[in-house]
Amino acid sequence: QAKQAGKRRHCTFNESMAEKVHERLRLEQRLRQAVKERSFTLHYQPLIRVEDNVLIGFEALLRWQDEGQHIPPDLFIPVAEECGLIQELGSWVLQQACRAAQHWNADYHYPLKVAVNVSVMQFVEPDFRQRVARELADSGLAPHLLELEITESVLQSLENSKRILKDLKQIGVSVAIDDFGTGYSSMAVLKDLAVDRLKIDRSFICNTPAQPQDAAVCKAIIMLAKSLMLGITAEGVEAIAQVDFLRENGCDTFQGYYYSPPLDSAALEQYLRHYFSAGPAAAASSSR
Ligand code: C2E
Ligand code: MG
Ligand code: MG
Ligand code: MG
Repeated sequence: QAKQAGKRRHCTFNESMAEKVHERLRLEQRLRQAVKERSFTLHYQPLIRVEDNVLIGFEALLRWQDEGQHIPPDLFIPVAEECGLIQELGSWVLQQACRAAQHWNADYHYPLKVAVNVSVMQFVEPDFRQRVARELADSGLAPHLLELEITESVLQSLENSKRILKDLKQIGVSVAIDDFGTGYSSMAVLKDLAVDRLKIDRSFICNTPAQPQDAAVCKAIIMLAKSLMLGITAEGVEAIAQVDFLRENGCDTFQGYYYSPPLDSAALEQYLRHYFSAGPAAAASSSR
């Protein structure tokens, strides 16, 4: 009896493994096709200055609608990385984001920055620096209005990353460390890196300030950023209690549903039109 149950379990395990492999292959195929056809869009989430609720720019976030189904980036980005599609996809994102930002700036005569997520695999490509320089030149976007978001994983090849970061600094773009606190960057490493900003990971924000431990982590990251003269963004800000706590503790930039979800191009147009006709106070309160 037990033996039979064991066998059956074994069999089920194999089937689900096969199913997973099949599903994964399908995803890879569809992704390959989508990259070829450029069937992605970018959504843009507002970045708000804590001090005065002024809009300072947007983070570009990739969206993929596959056969009418939304596939989240957390699911397909790792696949794109594993099967060597991320470079092409990432270049496209960079190009689109730079163009979009240049349009906002031209349309509203107001400097808005764009933050672009960069996979470690793009970051370490030998021609990454040239790619960034070329997209800036082609779009006409001022370098200081582009912020590249990298994760702590780039610090694994530290010497290489230091050199790349110096190159990027020379171009004049800024660099943020995304999802900060979830990886392994030591403070010693941080002080030697030419980065400009830390973004506190959403997982620490979501239970702040109710959870004293999470609140303590947020406070510590803010203090670390400030003492290293780095900017500090809180992502995933959803509630007024978080806004108040982070503001009191010296965070300088907010991003989250409290202000606005990521916006598609139509919603973004509307957001900008409204923002620039009504002013910062209205933008911060009306975007709920
Ligand atoms: P991320 O760069 O940390 O982006 C922030 C994520 O938090 C986004 O998820 C955003 O929609 C979500 N978010 C923002 N505010 C809130 C909030 O108040 N509450 C909640 N629950 N979520 C909020 P999204 O768009 O699903 O992207 C997930 C991740 O996928 C990104 O995390 C980033 O690591 C990656 N990603 C997205 N676009 C790109 C891209 O163009 N290139 C690369 N390499 N990675 C990307
Ligand atoms: Mg990001
Ligand atoms: Mg993030
Ligand atoms: Mg995140």
